[in-house]
Amino acid sequence: PTLYRGRKIVVLGLARSGVAVAKLFHRLGAEVVVNDRKSREESPEAAELEQLGVEVICGGHPQNLVGSTTSLLVKNPGIPYSAPPVAAALALGVEVVTEVEVAGHLSAAPIIGITGSNGKTTTTTWIGEMLGAAGLKPIVAGNIGRPLCEAAEEASADNILVAELSSFQLKGTSSFRPRVALLLNVAETHLDYHGSMEDYVASKAKLFDHQTEEDTAVLNADDPFCVGIAAKLRSRKLPFSLTQRLDSGVFIDPPYAPLGGELDAGATASTDANTERRDGAAGGGGQQGAATDEPERRIVYRDASGEEHILLPVAELGIPGRHNAANALAAAAACLAIGAEPEALAAPLREFNAVEHRLEFVREAGGVRYYNDSKATNPTATTMAVGSLQGPIVLIAGGLDRGSDYMELLPLFKSRLKGLVLLGQTRHKLAHVAELAGMSAVRIVDAGDDAESTISAAVREAAALAAPGDAVLLSPACASWDMFPSYEVRGCMFKDSAHTL
Ligand code: ADP
Repeated sequence: PTLYRGRKIVVLGLARSGVAVAKLFHRLGAEVVVNDRKSREESPEAAELEQLGVEVICGGHPQNLVGSTTSLLVKNPGIPYSAPPVAAALALGVEVVTEVEVAGHLSAAPIIGITGSNGKTTTTTWIGEMLGAAGLKPIVAGNIGRPLCEAAEEASADNILVAELSSFQLKGTSSFRPRVALLLNVAETHLDYHGSMEDYVASKAKLFDHQTEEDTAVLNADDPFCVGIAAKLRSRKLPFSLTQRLDSGVFIDPPYAPLGGELDAGATASTDANTERRDGAAGGGGQQGAATDEPERRIVYRDASGEEHILLPVAELGIPGRHNAANALAAAAACLAIGAEPEALAAPLREFNAVEHRLEFVREAGGVRYYNDSKATNPTATTMAVGSLQGPIVLIAGGLDRGSDYMELLPLFKSRLKGLVLLGQTRHKLAHVAELAGMSAVRIVDAGDDAESTISAAVREAAALAAPGDAVLLSPACASWDMFPSYEVRGCMFKDSAHTL
């Protein structure tokens, strides 16, 4: 902590993490200036910081904000490197980081860092529950909600800091070294911010850059980007796989068939990974059990000495879908790497529930099951969600246009959907893909600017396309900000509409 005393530090961005980091530096005796482009009226946190004696500048970036005496600039992860104060700092040779770097310096607890394109929050939450069940005192923070530096300051040596990390956060690290680093998967998202796939993969790979032989890398052996990264690492490796029996690692036995580009595999995924049990548990009903000729699959941990420990039958996992089975393997591997006993993991693997807005069962109405997967903000996540549900599906999709490749959805539109209801900025692009897929049951909702009436119109259209035994799934494949303040608001409005049907 003495590291920061007396230093001149600029904190850029007055969001929750900026406020936390400014308070922290102030407590540690640094000279802090906080700056945000937003006006004072839009920054209610400013007054609180000023009362503490922190200098706050709102409503623009002053020319002289960063100078030769500035020793560090901590920026909000969403602020681009081209923003004037950031560019100025870089030109002057001032170190530019995100609060994750600061957390790494301050934490007395070992850190499990979790990143990936999809599944971060689910896996992070699950790791927290597993470590709790294993008696290992987790503190869960980072991209998932609570600022990481705040949690890091609180953590003591007998805690484990479980940190969800976005690629934006990781890009702003320079020495961050998690004891266990977990990379779930790499899909083509966030290209608008990163500019290129190379930059995005490099940001994710930063999680491993400062690991040594004493640290562990948990990587997805089924993901080509992860395999590429793994080949270059110094760290110990504890991989996970749905499709291969590993020499050491966490895997499914007998393995699943690899997913080809074709989505017939989606149907297999759903029966394999326990859709029916969860529907029953959630009160959904309507779907009968998995194909009886499926072999009984187990989650197996093969340790470094080659000994095998059976963690749980896959059919008993708490949440459905092949992607969630992957999240379970990853979470278990991370917990084993940090010292959890294999026997302690069965209960939390079995008892885990869906995180809100992630393939969350909402209700059944007229024999139709409604699911809220508002968190699916890219085509890959939507593909996974559709593959997790059984029976005919009416999909509600569309939202902010971030330049993703929506053609990725073509096989899904061709083979798995009964109907499609489109909204938001991408509605016409998605309609074009549906046309190429030869879909006929496509509705475009254009209810003007009002988000609430748009989503409720979409739900009514979807309900009209669905028959008893079908599922209506909100899994937009796009971010929400074209119409909604957040994916949470979008999900809640969807749930409200489904409940008022
Ligand atoms: P993140 O925090 O990375 O955005 P979440 O755990 O919130 O991920 O899940 C978001 C959505 O991504 C889920 O609703 C699901 O559709 C999809 N998803 C979850 N896990 C995976 C995975 N391992 N692979 C692909 N898609 C996934």
